[in-house]
Amino acid sequence: MSIRHYVTLPLWMSHGLKSETFTRVHRQRNTADVMASSRISCCSTRILSFIIVPFFSIVGYLIYSTSTLSTRQSPSLAPPIALDSVVSNVNHTAAHARFASAIRIPTVSKLNATEEERRTFLRFRSMLQEEFPLVLEKLEWDIVNELSLLLKWQGSEPVDDSNLPILFLAHQDVVPVGDPERWDFPPFGGEINNGYIHGRGTLDMKGMLMAQLESVDALLKARYQPRRTIYLAFGHDEEVSGKEGAARIAEILEKRGLRFEFIIDEGLPISHGMFPGINVPIAWIGIAEKGVADFTIRTRSVGGHASMPFGQNAIHTLSDAIARLAKTRAITTFSEGPVAHLLSTIAPEHPSMLMRTILGNIRIFEYILGLLPPAVAPGFAAMTRTTWATTTFNGGVAANVLPRDASANINVRIRPGESIRGVQEFIAKAIGAQIVNETANADDPRDGSDDAPVTISLSLGGRNTEPSSISSPRSRAYKLLEGTIRHVFAFNHGTNSSSTDILVAPSLLMGATDSTAYKSMSANIFRFQPVVMYPGDPDRIHGVNERISLKDYDGMINFFVALILNADQMGRQSQ
Ligand SMILES: [Zn+2]
Repeated sequence: MSIRHYVTLPLWMSHGLKSETFTRVHRQRNTADVMASSRISCCSTRILSFIIVPFFSIVGYLIYSTSTLSTRQSPSLAPPIALDSVVSNVNHTAAHARFASAIRIPTVSKLNATEEERRTFLRFRSMLQEEFPLVLEKLEWDIVNELSLLLKWQGSEPVDDSNLPILFLAHQDVVPVGDPERWDFPPFGGEINNGYIHGRGTLDMKGMLMAQLESVDALLKARYQPRRTIYLAFGHDEEVSGKEGAARIAEILEKRGLRFEFIIDEGLPISHGMFPGINVPIAWIGIAEKGVADFTIRTRSVGGHASMPFGQNAIHTLSDAIARLAKTRAITTFSEGPVAHLLSTIAPEHPSMLMRTILGNIRIFEYILGLLPPAVAPGFAAMTRTTWATTTFNGGVAANVLPRDASANINVRIRPGESIRGVQEFIAKAIGAQIVNETANADDPRDGSDDAPVTISLSLGGRNTEPSSISSPRSRAYKLLEGTIRHVFAFNHGTNSSSTDILVAPSLLMGATDSTAYKSMSANIFRFQPVVMYPGDPDRIHGVNERISLKDYDGMINFFVALILNADQMGRQSQ
């Protein structure tokens, strides 16, 4: 029985019940009814066909597109020289001891460092030079702005498009430790215990700095001469701005007209159990990073004695504006930028058919996913949109005085594709604020007039950085990095390195790194830290009980050795 029959059936049934007397009248009515009914049935059919045909078309499309998803994982890339023949030059006990000495020097960066604090960085440099005499002898060491370091390992062949140099980044400085009593091990003790080395900087990021030097040292001991020139840049103020370190090193490299095949900086780890339903570790390569900006929202009122409140109150106005902003969300996008690359890479690998369907057809599902509250997956939600958070709130001078002035700091993280200015305009519109000159301050009479009770300005003291561009996950440099990760992970973990042992996926870094200073010098900037992390481990970065396993540290050394060897090979293959 067709749907058309079902809809019209009651009208046909009514015919047999009519008496002769009413037949004529009813016949006329029935004719009208039948015409009406056929109009209804026709209309209903159309409505249903508008629903059903697209529905089955979409289902058919989803089944087809999901069944034809194919893996984007690149094969494992073994270096041309067996990794063990090089890393056998590493005396692991000595390497761990060197790493511990790096942790023991408390290179905490501050915006206005004292002479003594600056001397700590000089001590750190001396330690590096003493511990790596071969690296000191064979590489060029440039001291930049007194405390930052730029090392150059000259390649054997001239620089051309197929033999561009590569750049490894790390930073010497660390963030403060907070209350040392909350640490299980002294934060600057560099203690080795139960397979871990503990202390501030083990993850962020003296581990990577030391592993880069160990890898160069191991290659030098193996009498390896790279074909491609390798630079290592170690800034000293990444945690406070990067303006005195990375920015100054970048200026020097820019003046030399350098371009790099790729740049590796700190970034995302190899994570276990951090993507729902995926049971193998995932190595996340940050192909972009969010921008960051601080805005000041300021409100003004006339003030007066608290016993006679009247008119506007700066704190009330500011509270209303902040509350409105908290309810406002930026547009969510799953089908553009790094998050789209991430989902399309994970989709074919997901064991669940439902998840493969959703992730592999994200354009169809993104509206529904965008309705989910951020609390469902705060980290992932932050990847899909620009976010803002009120981080400080100030107002009022005394308990019995009406406030004349109140202000709040809004920390904004901007997704690639948007801009600081665009977000400022969006927020201003959302809360009815007037954008004022960035240099305006509380004492400026031009700022905060009665016709502009709410103003918004860009804070000049903060780290205001535009979002980065997006490095392609289809470039040969990305594939080299991916293949190297897969090989080294297998090497380090004794697996057979099949694609199911580890997934490699592009992703977006939420924080800002030194790599933004070098953005004009390479199209391939990757933010990746070859460290395995479990849920809870990321909290140790900038938190208490920062630590790294010795196995991971050794893996990091192997990773940089393999990367250097593979990068030389990549140049040869492209000719
Ligand atoms: Zn860092």
